[in-house]
Amino acid sequence: MPDCLFCRIASGAVPATRVLETERTLAFRDINPQAPIHVLIIPKRHYRDLADLAAADARLLAELAGQAHEVALADGIAETGYRVVFNTGSNAGQTVDHAHAHVLGGRPMAWPPG
Ligand code: 5GP
Ligand code: ZN
Repeated sequence: MPDCLFCRIASGAVPATRVLETERTLAFRDINPQAPIHVLIIPKRHYRDLADLAAADARLLAELAGQAHEVALADGIAETGYRVVFNTGSNAGQTVDHAHAHVLGGRPMAWPPG
């Protein structure tokens, strides 16, 4: 998807601060962090959202979940805890239509979320 921001980050056309990478996934720091640790994990291939990804490739979705924990370990928040969020659709505040998991941590987080 040539016009998709996260496809362009995956290809390297748009720079990002990369944290972890596998053959099929990429983790990079959010440009506008909402917590001391705020990392996005994407499938390199374009899927519109969580539902699209889950329907198309459940193994890739599972890999994304595993990478969320790898990011937490790498950034030192696995012990203190972290939140993994897939904003899906406009009410949830999804602004980039390329499936992505937010990994947030490094401070206590409120529940329920806003
Ligand atoms: P959403 O709102 O769709 O759940 O999450 C999109 C996220 O992408 C936001 O947290 C936003 O800060 C982040 N973001 C938007 N543009 C860029 C960018 O160019 N680079 C990086 N690293 N993050 C971005
Ligand atoms: Zn994309």
